[in-house]
Amino acid sequence: AAKLSGRGRSVVFDPAMRAAAVERRRLEQELSEALAADQFRLVYQPVVDLADERVVGFEALLRWQSPTLGAVPPMTFVPVAEDLGLIGDIGAWVLREACRTAAQWRREPGSEDLTMAVNVSAVQLTSPDLIDHVRAALAASGLPATGLVLEVTETALVGNAERAAQSLSALRDLGVRLALDDFGTGYSSLGYLQQFTVDVLKIDRSFVATITGDDEMPPIVRGLIDLGRALDLEIVAEGVESEAQRARLQTGRCDRAQGYLFARPLEATDAELLLLGRFPGVPASELPRA
Ligand code: C2E
Ligand code: MG
Ligand code: MG
Ligand code: MG
Repeated sequence: AAKLSGRGRSVVFDPAMRAAAVERRRLEQELSEALAADQFRLVYQPVVDLADERVVGFEALLRWQSPTLGAVPPMTFVPVAEDLGLIGDIGAWVLREACRTAAQWRREPGSEDLTMAVNVSAVQLTSPDLIDHVRAALAASGLPATGLVLEVTETALVGNAERAAQSLSALRDLGVRLALDDFGTGYSSLGYLQQFTVDVLKIDRSFVATITGDDEMPPIVRGLIDLGRALDLEIVAEGVESEAQRARLQTGRCDRAQGYLFARPLEATDAELLLLGRFPGVPASELPRA
């Protein structure tokens, strides 16, 4: 950002800052047209039960393909969409699309209890529209509320804790399940667990990455799992990339896992084939990348 050096003085841009500002302006312009132009899609990463490695759910992850900027990652455009006031409409679209897909996949034999996880940003969580969007997406798709998991980060709870708490309890009243995403990376994690009732704890992949080779379970991962169990939460490990990590987590009584070891986020058609056990003979770890 430009350094404002007091009233009446000029704002000084160096060339790099100017270039960054131009780029940001372009991103904003493109992003404000993206929803109407149908440039978003969802990809789906399987969540597996560590006991038997069955696919028990998916996490929907948003993708934006801009005709001029190419593929822009959500870490880049979600904060911009929040700043521009676009996240409400985009998030409503994500909810509708994810619920519609989940309801469809649940009609397959053996997939009746499939869950669909959807990420909800800080701005969404503190908006009074969220609950209406969730209700509408469930009603339109026929997905029961218990089939939907909303993932919030600790950081989303920080700014406006009171509003966030109201939203979360209204969502729980609907029957929707709540997950604390990237757990352990925000601050005051334990305080939030005390203050907000959630159903699922997702252990951030930075902790999972500390599980290496044949070592003992790293004490922090051990502690996170024990904490989750003590609170009777379902525990999901994120970013599982190695067989050693899978084995440790399984014997360490972690319930579920996601990660490149099992599958990368998949296009809807590929995710459905995987679910049906009909993905053409490729180990999950080599499935195409979405
Ligand atoms: P997240 O919810 O923590 O999602 C997990 C991220 O880790 C995803 O990145 C996923 O592709 C990546 N990932 C999964 N398994 C592995 C693995 O084994 N190794 C590694 N290195 N990475 C793995 P992605 O799709 O780029 O999403 C990034 C973040 O953007 C998400 O983090 C979430 O916070 C946000 N996001 C994604 N979709 C949405 C959305 O629809 N709405 C909102 N508000 N935020 C979203
Ligand atoms: Mg997530
Ligand atoms: Mg996460
Ligand atoms: Mg994460």
